[in-house]
Amino acid sequence: MSNRITDPDCLFCKIVAGQLPANVVADEEKVLAFRDIDPKAPLHVLVVPKDHHADVTTLAHADGATLAELVKLGSRIAADEAGGEFRLVFNTGPSSGQSVFHVHGHVLGGRDMGWPPG
Ligand code: 5GP
Ligand code: ZN
Repeated sequence: MSNRITDPDCLFCKIVAGQLPANVVADEEKVLAFRDIDPKAPLHVLVVPKDHHADVTTLAHADGATLAELVKLGSRIAADEAGGEFRLVFNTGPSSGQSVFHVHGHVLGGRDMGWPPG
């Protein structure tokens, strides 16, 4: 859509725009879900807003409704593919492990997981 917030240098904006391929699981008005290219669990899907926001804090302040849509979509995918139990991770900042600065929730499931995360 023409009013979308985009960053021309952003990998996930390019996926949202269809300029780079992805294994899309769900495509909604405001949010997109696609499989992580390097999965860490049997279910590993990334849920992203179609608008570019750098991280979950920025998204929460700018558009909380879309953040809620992200969570609901991730939850639904986990219900469909992993029995409804999942871990939802928003790495926020380089020291947390964030490497793509377009907010994405990692929806991980389908196996037992340790705690605390590394
Ligand atoms: P972060 O490290 O920012 O929390 O997560 C970035 C995630 O994006 C990583 O799990 C990585 O495997 C995934 N990723 C990086 N590049 C691509 C890509 O081109 N396509 C897809 N589907 N996932 C990607
Ligand atoms: Zn982006």
